[in-house]
Amino acid sequence: MPDKSTSSEHATVAAPETLAKPVKIYPIVKYGDPILEKPGAPIKKFDAEMEQLVEDMFASMYAAQGVGLAAPQIGLSLRLTVIDVTGGKNPEAKIVLANPEIIHAEGEVREEEGCLSIPGFRGYVIRPQFVTVKAQNAKGESYEIRGENLLARAFCHEIDHLNGILFLQHLSMLKRDLIKRKIKKLRKQGEW
Ligand SMILES: [Zn+2]
Repeated sequence: MPDKSTSSEHATVAAPETLAKPVKIYPIVKYGDPILEKPGAPIKKFDAEMEQLVEDMFASMYAAQGVGLAAPQIGLSLRLTVIDVTGGKNPEAKIVLANPEIIHAEGEVREEEGCLSIPGFRGYVIRPQFVTVKAQNAKGESYEIRGENLLARAFCHEIDHLNGILFLQHLSMLKRDLIKRKIKKLRKQGEW
């Protein structure tokens, strides 16, 4: 084994095995890919592979500076989404929703919304102020979680993704068509 002090500048030092497993940063699928507009399949197996996928999804979401990421956005047509409205500031705010269902919604809030799969575009969407979701965690345990305002919005936005619905569908036809036209133009220019 070479002495580290004499190793060349090109040498890499292997991380000790006691460190956390490496995570995979997935590229985010952009609007136009049909996977974003089809419903995901239910998660049936909750194993080590699934737990790794969840960690990879959190890492990919933080890398993209998002507060939510759904499996179809990384090219996997599955009913799985991760959410953290603190953007990684509070580890306790990490939420895993496998096979989620909205079981209660209340109130209305109109707020601007964006999507990692539709970068550069935002629009006002009316969402419930309070949302209660029933879901399974990364281990497959069922639980219920209630969210308010931004978290309620994230629940709705991400669960929409699992049903093949994008926030564009909640905009007025005029606004939606405007965004679609701009994206078409960007695509022609090779910028999408
Ligand atoms: Zn989205």
